[in-house]
Amino acid sequence: SSRRKNGTVVTFFEEEINKLMQKEMDILNQLIYGLKNNEFTAFLQPKVNLMTKEIVGFEALARWNSPVLGFVSPATFIPIAESSGKIREIDNAILKQVLEWQQKRKEKGLKLFPVSVNISPVHFYHESFVDDFIQLVSQYEIAPEYIKFEVTENFELVDLERAKDILLKLNSYGYKSSIDDFGVGFSSLSYLQKLPFSEIKIDRSFVSNMNTNEMISIVQTIVQLASNLKMNAVAEGIETLDQYNFLKEIGCLIGQGFYFHKPLPIDEAEQLLNVE
Ligand code: C2E
Ligand code: MG
Ligand code: MG
Ligand code: MG
Repeated sequence: SSRRKNGTVVTFFEEEINKLMQKEMDILNQLIYGLKNNEFTAFLQPKVNLMTKEIVGFEALARWNSPVLGFVSPATFIPIAESSGKIREIDNAILKQVLEWQQKRKEKGLKLFPVSVNISPVHFYHESFVDDFIQLVSQYEIAPEYIKFEVTENFELVDLERAKDILLKLNSYGYKSSIDDFGVGFSSLSYLQKLPFSEIKIDRSFVSNMNTNEMISIVQTIVQLASNLKMNAVAEGIETLDQYNFLKEIGCLIGQGFYFHKPLPIDEAEQLLNVE
């Protein structure tokens, strides 16, 4: 009967959901252990001046190689860390590795490069975010221009004024922020001019689809918009020579992507700077 059929369907989904929840719980348990065990590592992806191909900075990206689970992608562990309240610890673990790298370069008398760290909206809106950050960074002697924040726009900016206050507070200490994955969210245009970001990161989905005139003109519009708002435009996910050439033509000054460099372990990023 159909009733029995329905019962079977429900049971099937319940089983699937239980399995999923169990899998997430397993990841969360390993993640908590992994944080204590320093399993989260900062990789650095170079940001490149598209006119000269010179490295002008880096983006720090979290990598997790768990002895139990193997390599786990940020796409998997970041959402679990966000919903369990562990994301601040991950962001800070990455931030610390970046600060330590900068401090070492400074002590060796080497040139410093700005490094952008990703801050989850959950972390960004936490009441003690700025104070905790200032407390952490004060243990190092790194000028504010060498640490930047990337905040994804995919969060609901219900509290525009709060976002503005946080960005202004960071700015008052000299720290600048980028709006990440620009173009993917909804109300982007309306709040962009209200928020004191210094950089717009054009989402990879736009860059990878620059094979029609429509797409090219959308990217061109974002670059123009950034320029009008006195912000830098950075193209994400450049993978091909064609994409690189288009971006150069429309005047996008900075980019990053596998065409230039993949995210690298810190010592490989260091080597790369030595040969540059
Ligand atoms: P995102 O901040 O937009 O980072 C860009 C992503 O694109 C990275 O993926 C990077 O490895 C990837 N990517 C760079 N160039 C290319 C390219 O040419 N082609 C392709 N296909 N991909 C490219 P990843 O490292 O897997 O990170 C995914 C997302 O996870 C990040 O997106 C960011 O939102 C989040 N994430 C990573 N690390 C952290 C972290 O330390 N804290 C927080 N809160 N989020 C992080
Ligand atoms: Mg980012
Ligand atoms: Mg991005
Ligand atoms: Mg992203």
